[in-house]
Amino acid sequence: MMNAHSTLYCVKCAQPSLVNQGQKAYRCHSCDFVYFHNVAAAVSAVVVCNGQMLLVERAQQPSEGKLDFPGGFVDYDESNEQALKRELLEELQLPIGHMQYLFSYPNSYLYKDVLYSTLDSFFEIHLSTKPALVLQQEEVSRYLWLDVSNVDSNQLAFVSGQHAMAAYLRNNE
Ligand SMILES: [Zn+2]
Repeated sequence: MMNAHSTLYCVKCAQPSLVNQGQKAYRCHSCDFVYFHNVAAAVSAVVVCNGQMLLVERAQQPSEGKLDFPGGFVDYDESNEQALKRELLEELQLPIGHMQYLFSYPNSYLYKDVLYSTLDSFFEIHLSTKPALVLQQEEVSRYLWLDVSNVDSNQLAFVSGQHAMAAYLRNNE
């Protein structure tokens, strides 16, 4: 949700008359335009190889410098699976085949003073050998292979990632 106390201008009539009406609807009192700040879909990969998990360090706000699962937002007309394949190619130049859906967790994502509510879906990907990775520097500053037995869910950047890591570790004890 955007800051309910600041003046919001209507994108249709440009009057300062856009008012929040509950959780996600914003109505313009001048022209009756309605904007829905809907939940955004995002995907994350739990990539594992020989007891180690692939995590990336975020190069951007929010949560710059913190650990995250590789992934990103779903584009228009994409499935979750297509989005994750595209993101892994863009971020790491990692081509993937089979992926297994695990679970989803909601998250809040503050970007340039606008709070986005997301639904993050997690997929598990097993690799038999560690691939050569090439980083997309604007998105990720480095990647790490961590022993699954040593990963701490509090190291993760977002609440959804913390929940996902805790659930993954619980399921794989
Ligand atoms: Zn308006």
